[in-house]
Amino acid sequence: MPPAPLHRLLYVSRADSVGREFEILTEDVVAVSARNNAQVGVTGLLAAFDGWFLQALEGSRTEISATFSRIAKDPRHCVLELISAGPIDARLFGRWSMSARTITPAAAPVLDMLGARGGMDPRLLDSAGALRLLLTVARVSEGVLERVTLRA
Ligand code: FAD
Repeated sequence: MPPAPLHRLLYVSRADSVGREFEILTEDVVAVSARNNAQVGVTGLLAAFDGWFLQALEGSRTEISATFSRIAKDPRHCVLELISAGPIDARLFGRWSMSARTITPAAAPVLDMLGARGGMDPRLLDSAGALRLLLTVARVSEGVLERVTLRA
């Protein structure tokens, strides 16, 4: 049987914690996500900044849908907004079952450049802007974008 067609989903959400608690939450989420996603062929990237999450999930439509349903019910974040979901030709974040990057306030000009006008509010990103931001984060440049953890 041919492999299921690939899909990508992008969403943004707001954590219920700040500061060190937000960092711990991010690390906890990545640990569970890397384990779960590896079992079902889901890959992606989680950008964390200023209490916000921006995440890409890639995999079969069925698995993306099941994963996103769990994520949407998670009480540790809110204001969850779907940015885009649809078929793709190839994975862009296939290296990671899940990995997180923290974007520091020093990177605010990068966000502006990528279209997140108004500072660090990722809800202002459109689909192309969100993808550009995540790809930039994936090519993390030390000093501006600070790596938190890479477990996958
Ligand atoms: P467990 O990790 O054992 O958790 C069992 C239940 O307890 C779940 O309902 C969980 O939501 C809840 N829970 C766990 N810890 C806490 C806590 N500290 N406070 C309140 N409730 C808690 N999961 C994935 O599989 N893949 C992803 O890519 C993914 N991305 C995520 C991104 C974000 C921003 C967030 C907030 C969560 C993400 N999750 C992801 C986690 C997801 O929401 C579920 O928690 C997880 O999938 C459940 O895994 P599990 O069935 O192994 O249960």
